[in-house]
Amino acid sequence: MKGRIVILATGGTIAGVGNPGKTMGYTPGSLTAGELLETVPQLKDIAPIETVQVCNVNSDDITAGVWITLANTINTMAEDPDVQGFVITHGTDTLEETAYFLSLTVKTEKPVVITGSMRPSTSISPDGSMNLYESVCVAASQEAAGHGVLVVFSDRIYSARYVTKTSTYHLMAISAGETGAAGFVRDGRVYFMYGRPEKVLPEDSAFDVSRLTDLPKVSIVYFAVDADPQFLRYAAEHSEGLVIAGAGAGEFSRAYQAVIRELTIPVVISSRIDDGVITKENLLCENTIAAGNRSPRKAAVLLRLALTKSSDRAYLEELFSGY
Ligand code: ASP
Repeated sequence: MKGRIVILATGGTIAGVGNPGKTMGYTPGSLTAGELLETVPQLKDIAPIETVQVCNVNSDDITAGVWITLANTINTMAEDPDVQGFVITHGTDTLEETAYFLSLTVKTEKPVVITGSMRPSTSISPDGSMNLYESVCVAASQEAAGHGVLVVFSDRIYSARYVTKTSTYHLMAISAGETGAAGFVRDGRVYFMYGRPEKVLPEDSAFDVSRLTDLPKVSIVYFAVDADPQFLRYAAEHSEGLVIAGAGAGEFSRAYQAVIRELTIPVVISSRIDDGVITKENLLCENTIAAGNRSPRKAAVLLRLALTKSSDRAYLEELFSGY
């Protein structure tokens, strides 16, 4: 008898309900975890399933509190020898942030898989049922253990570290840029064909959130031509750290540079281009930290967690220089 797969449901389009046949104008986070389960009767052939309704929201309303609940629930339930793995159902808008947060806070070697869908459950040919089925297959597979948090979407398996949303509408809306997919799923069989994500990143599972209820606030400020640097001042006054989504290799205007040099809170420089890397050599302001190949969104997740430990510059620099 196989161990249980725990499905932690948080809402999103995968639990969305709307006009029959339509792909837009629906309400995300409508189906309960139990109702979601009923849409895929084949799940019971894979393993016994337990459901936990963590919340039921559009993923734009996910909070650090939900992240912490997810991490602590997984860390506690993973101690049960009858639990084989976890699947989290989530909206695609912020799936990559939740996935990265969990990869930094989940302590178990058991598979943890996150999925979602682009079409609501009431559309023609919804993708949520297949994504859920394939995620449970991955969570139930021995090969998925010990490789950090995974994202399963449109038949492919990705590492949480690299995954990002790449389309506002089509079904292949999740991708992993230069690193690509780790593998795929066909008719319930799991293939780690392109190399399993290895847990070699220094920051993997580096944070303990068992006593936390929230995270320090970090704001992301986007740069574009003629961007008003006053936003930087406002954001800095209301945050414990900043991430700048700079142009190109993390660059911005002289007006931005002048304000950034005045800031005393940690400022991490990322790029509005998702592909590529920002290193120390790219930095325009001495008081800033390079985000490496983390998008502004992922840099903000890491900075929020890092600030629970320290705002020491050397610590942050070392953390962000890790790959
Ligand atoms: N707005 C939705 C959400 O993130 C989109 C989706 O799930 O695809 O919850």
